[in-house]
Amino acid sequence: MCGVAGYTTLRINATPHILEMLELLQDRGQSGSGIAVCKDGDIHARTKSGPVSNLVVGLDLPDAHCGIGHVRYATSGSKFASQPLTGAIAGTDFALCTNGDTVKLNGKYRDEFRMSLQQSVLRASSDTEDVLHLIAQQPGTTFLKRLVNALKKIEGAFSTLVLLKTGVLIATRDRWGFRPLFLAKREDAVAFASEPSALVDFTLIREVKPGEMVIVNPNLAIHSQEVTKPARRQYRCSFEWVYMMRPDNPGVYPFRRAQGRTVAIEMREKRKLPEKIDGVVAVFDSGRDAAFGFAGELGLEVIPGLNRARRLNTLRAFLGEDEGERNSIAQRKHSANPDAVSGKHLIVVDDSLLRSTTMKVIVRKLRDAGAASVHVVIVSPPIGGPCFYGTNIPTRQELVASNRSESVIRILINADSLTYISLEGYRSCYEHITVSGYEGKLKPCKHVCDACMSGLYPKFVPHGFAAKKPMNGD
Ligand code: SF4
Ligand code: MG
Repeated sequence: MCGVAGYTTLRINATPHILEMLELLQDRGQSGSGIAVCKDGDIHARTKSGPVSNLVVGLDLPDAHCGIGHVRYATSGSKFASQPLTGAIAGTDFALCTNGDTVKLNGKYRDEFRMSLQQSVLRASSDTEDVLHLIAQQPGTTFLKRLVNALKKIEGAFSTLVLLKTGVLIATRDRWGFRPLFLAKREDAVAFASEPSALVDFTLIREVKPGEMVIVNPNLAIHSQEVTKPARRQYRCSFEWVYMMRPDNPGVYPFRRAQGRTVAIEMREKRKLPEKIDGVVAVFDSGRDAAFGFAGELGLEVIPGLNRARRLNTLRAFLGEDEGERNSIAQRKHSANPDAVSGKHLIVVDDSLLRSTTMKVIVRKLRDAGAASVHVVIVSPPIGGPCFYGTNIPTRQELVASNRSESVIRILINADSLTYISLEGYRSCYEHITVSGYEGKLKPCKHVCDACMSGLYPKFVPHGFAAKKPMNGD
């Protein structure tokens, strides 16, 4: 999952605002970042590997009224394939960045589509570059017509921002709504971002609708058009609410708290609570709200058993490039507090278990700090399947729950017990998922994706992947 930010203003200068938004979206990706601005009919783009703090060093950009930016977390392609990508199609220079992953382009799986591009020069292996080629292939005398035609031919997740050399800013979202994208306004500027929490000092207007294209002119006039009909069955990624989105975004806290409360009720009803519990330990950040929900339901105390190195606050082990990097982040980031946990029977609450890298480290550190027992509660169901829609869960082999029973996983993480929320319990929390509605009001989000947990995938999955049972609907 990446983060995208777009900003257009009547004043000079857009660059510091875009960088600030990217900083606020840094949790969504740390392997690369980039910015593109438009000045006097030219596009100027800069990218760097690593976090936004790398991008800022020596950044030389002209003062500009509008631009787009990206924090990258590689779901396909090299970590150095940072965005925005730039190009010129139908006489229009542009920059483009996206959050998501495409599965099919023009009816072809991605590998087939790439093979069909034999005559073209491919710079990077990212699917965003495939989208650029698809746009170039389309009929149409203008860039905009070709873009619209291309968007109709993509199956998958893409929440995309485009900057034209004319200073026009475009935001568009796939018809299934996998990845979030929000529109906000204030007197002198219009902005887009993957999360409302990045839109500081703006009035949140609404999400970009699935299938919609929003065009913002340099004078801030906003024009909307439906590029593709919103799918009857949409797939907003529930993992966004579990893990990816910052806790101060709309709906995230109630959802996570409900996850904690629900699994607490399930454990009480099934008599699965450990005999002795002295306190609940939250795994920061995304396990925190669930831990409070869990403890509140059972009348338990939340113990500050884990500390996080301040300097490494924004590093998320899940976003590391390989097992070595993920393990190193987890080791450096977490420490246990012996004064808080020594001799205590603990329940550790975390949002999810993917590869189990962080949880192994946490259990070991709590035990080393003297914990009498460490019971682990996970507030999302076992994640046993990959994601093809923008979350980096690439293979079943990497997922600890893909072919292991809960008792084996418990041994692997060295916990005294391991409990997951049930799929039904998890789904009961969806009532707390809200998206920003169309008059600035929150409205419930009806169609949510949990394919990596339930095995119920949308109809489009990559070549050769056997989904348990594709969902109905387009
Ligand atoms: Fe999100 Fe999982 Fe669906 Fe991917 S498969 S979009 S991670 S819920
Ligand atoms: Mg975690």
